[in-house]
Amino acid sequence: MTNKDQEFLPFSRPSISQEAIDEVVACLKSGWITTGPRVRQFEEDLKTYVGAPYALCLTSATAGLHLVLTALRLKPGDEVITTPMTFAATLNTIVLAGGRPVCVDVEPGTYNMDVARVEKAVTKRTRAIMPVHFAGLPVDLDPLYDIARKHNLRVIEDAAHAIGTEYKGKRIGSFGDIQVFSFHPNKNMTTGEGGCVVTRDEQLASDVALLRFHGMDREAWNRFGKSGSQHYEIVAPGYKYNMMDIQAALGIHQLKALDGFIRRRTELALRYHELLQGWPEWTLTAAPAYGHRHAWHLYTPLINPDRAGRDRDAFMLGMKERNIGTGLHYRAVHLYPYYREHFGFKRGNFPNAESISDRIVSLPLFPSMTDGDQDRVIAAMRDLFRQ
Ligand SMILES: *Cc1c(COP(=O)(O)O)cnc(C)c1O
Repeated sequence: MTNKDQEFLPFSRPSISQEAIDEVVACLKSGWITTGPRVRQFEEDLKTYVGAPYALCLTSATAGLHLVLTALRLKPGDEVITTPMTFAATLNTIVLAGGRPVCVDVEPGTYNMDVARVEKAVTKRTRAIMPVHFAGLPVDLDPLYDIARKHNLRVIEDAAHAIGTEYKGKRIGSFGDIQVFSFHPNKNMTTGEGGCVVTRDEQLASDVALLRFHGMDREAWNRFGKSGSQHYEIVAPGYKYNMMDIQAALGIHQLKALDGFIRRRTELALRYHELLQGWPEWTLTAAPAYGHRHAWHLYTPLINPDRAGRDRDAFMLGMKERNIGTGLHYRAVHLYPYYREHFGFKRGNFPNAESISDRIVSLPLFPSMTDGDQDRVIAAMRDLFRQ
């Protein structure tokens, strides 16, 4: 049977257990579906898993980045150093919070922020550094935090890909300043939509708690519970970024399954590495020398268009015609019209990020993917490259 006769293989698909489905149904029948006991439970479970004193669940990681940056009370012209090789939300939230995104180029093999370039980007206006653990591979955090301490900067780790990631034996979220995780369906665990801020800073945690729900000093489920008072105070103009219990019902079970998901993702990623070794059409990712556990959110080789006889977009189309889904994570954010026009970024600013942006493709990778599915991906590629 050829790929053309087979069912479409998506690039990502969430694995939702029967227990998770039952928990969602139980939540729906319980009479309490918005923020309440299940979110509390999920936050406790997250604190235990990542090893942090504060975990605050939200509607998305974008909401988390927005609130954390808002809590920093940036003044016009304040700068946040980040990476162009990320999802747009990383830079968008800097702008939404009133800041100015300053990018540094990435390393060619890991696609992570090149920490050696960060200090040169620090100015009198720099307030924070926002690294992204690309695909679940940790950024080199020791030298990054050294720079942050030296210049008195906050560090907001965009850990959207990195729940379960470890740096030198320590879980992302168990140390450092602030981490923001995503539970979007494509990410390593999901609540439908959802995200979470983790920190060790009590003041920041309390600011985020306030800002995520209207700036109210007490949460709704306390007020409407048997023991609650009907009164609340508004102490800041807040947002409406609270996670629902329906979402947390999923999250509680996804978190239990997470390490199993990462194990399977790792097997598949290493198998891709093995199967694609030596192909002139591809440049594969490189591993850093420091100790780490990769969460393998994405498997993202770079196409070599000269050797492959086609560019990345033609490759993606050819795979789609062969019933294989692929993803594009990401085009370099500094090249989008808004960022070119408002911040003067242009092609040539960050050559490593631009080369990755032009050539990167996400191959199918998800926990329920079989070796047979993966063999179909490889067969489709062979067929495509033969033409
Ligand atoms: C997915 C993603 C986000 C946003 O996460 P949401 O939960 O969808 O808001 C932010 N940064 C990066 C790097 C991401 O991949």
